Amino acid sequence: MTDASTNRPVRVRFAPSPTGKLHIGGARTAIYNWAFARAMGGTFVLRIEDTDPERSTEENTAIILRAMEWLGLDWDEGPEVGGQFGPYFQSQRTQLYQQALDRLKEAGAVYPCFCTKDELDAKRARAEAEEGGYAGYDRTCREIPPQEARARIAAGEPHVWRLKVPLEHGPVVFEDAVYGSMSFPVDVMDDMILQRTDGTFTYNYVVVCDDVAMEMTHVIRGDDHLSNTPRQVLVYEALGAEVPLFAHLPMILGSNGKKLSKRHGATNVEEYRDRGYLPEAMVNFLALLGWSLDGETTIIPREELCRDFSLTRINKKHAIFDEKKLDWMDGSYIREMDVESFLATAKPWFVRAVALGTKASCSDEAVCVVPTPTKEEQQEEARATKPLNEDVPAETWGHALAYVEDHADRLRATYPLLVERLNRFDEIPAKIEFLFWGTHVILDEKSRDKVLLKEGSGAEEALALCRAALADESIPWQFEALQEECLARGEAAGLKTKALLQPLRVAVCGNMVSPPLFESIVLMERADVLARIDNVSSVVFDA
Ligand code: GLU
Repeated sequence: MTDASTNRPVRVRFAPSPTGKLHIGGARTAIYNWAFARAMGGTFVLRIEDTDPERSTEENTAIILRAMEWLGLDWDEGPEVGGQFGPYFQSQRTQLYQQALDRLKEAGAVYPCFCTKDELDAKRARAEAEEGGYAGYDRTCREIPPQEARARIAAGEPHVWRLKVPLEHGPVVFEDAVYGSMSFPVDVMDDMILQRTDGTFTYNYVVVCDDVAMEMTHVIRGDDHLSNTPRQVLVYEALGAEVPLFAHLPMILGSNGKKLSKRHGATNVEEYRDRGYLPEAMVNFLALLGWSLDGETTIIPREELCRDFSLTRINKKHAIFDEKKLDWMDGSYIREMDVESFLATAKPWFVRAVALGTKASCSDEAVCVVPTPTKEEQQEEARATKPLNEDVPAETWGHALAYVEDHADRLRATYPLLVERLNRFDEIPAKIEFLFWGTHVILDEKSRDKVLLKEGSGAEEALALCRAALADESIPWQFEALQEECLARGEAAGLKTKALLQPLRVAVCGNMVSPPLFESIVLMERADVLARIDNVSSVVFDA
């Protein structure tokens, strides 16, 4: 489809520099380009801007590609898929930049500058001391007659190539889908360097060469590039190329209104993947950081995004990255999953749950009382990205994996316990680890004090009552039957439901917060459950 504003088939690109992993802001830029291409029936190009040899690495490129794949952002042209406008790595396009520069030389649109670094520094220092300050390179070498310049080059004098900004040019104008018509006075623009003394090319030059050669119709990128754009427009004009339509995206800020940084938690896509977020939720969430469908709709699945995305609804105001909202959204997507995909995604987290549970069951002490984490500790824990097998010996992990594979039905049975209660998959181990403790219990200190040791609560009696009910082999090991039996015995003894069941919950699950109690109990062995009650009772009440 062609875009009315450019009259050319829509072609957009995501152009990351592989100097780090795929940052949240970069991912959002990628999503907007991808969704726009899909909505317009256009082409989405991935171009790797690896011109900084010191900071670009192949490893980062690979990480970026995998992160794009994980998010489901398929590119039509670029690394691994090729395309007619390749190569798609800037480091392999030097010849094209040189050819374009040669054309600019022929057209008299550039000139060599022989000013040394020391001279430039001195000029800058002088200008800064004067009123008005430094206004860019003073164009000394622009006046050098062409024959003289050629002779100096032939003699091997070091030089750069600068763009000859047309002085009679009116304001530099361009259209931005977010900011509207932009206009910058030309006299504040100095003759920027296109090629450095060592023969390498500058970012503002190569990015335009590529966007022209790759026939980009729109340039959608972060607004940190806004100040580069008027300079780039001058390069388009010098190359005699059509200027694309721009869309500069608002900054993403952390919840404290400051630039998103490590302090706000994870900042790159890989970490979110490792923390168990769903790519669908991530894409939806990031799409809404600076864009909206109608100002209200929050759940916009991938297909709808690809259909309805438009540049006109991008916000100028910065966006706030609210991780709570992301968690909520992830939870919404989890609840939409069918059982099979849920189980497939949950598998590594099940393995971790089994591994942690097994580890606890090997402890020397049958009941291990652990301090309750503070709120801050809990928050920190929730934000941390840890390897799945953290604190799990390789052997335990291997056994846990085999267990999960051999007990698919048992793990399938946790689905109803989990699906309504999860915001992220990495919450699974903490929620169901207790199922795999065997006869052991990791007892939360606060739960012990508040529920079991609370004066006058009748916890000991309640626990004994429930134990007797659970020990009655005439009652089938099914949650309704067990629940009914416990409640009936409790009622006969005049105990309220909470007073009756909280001690049981703490004794069996180790905590006053747990998934539904009887549904959990039936997933364990009767003997283990009774042993846990006995172990906890002897530690807590007989001490
Ligand atoms: N490589 C640039 C960056 O990673 C993007 C350039 C552009 O989109 O024009 O910031």
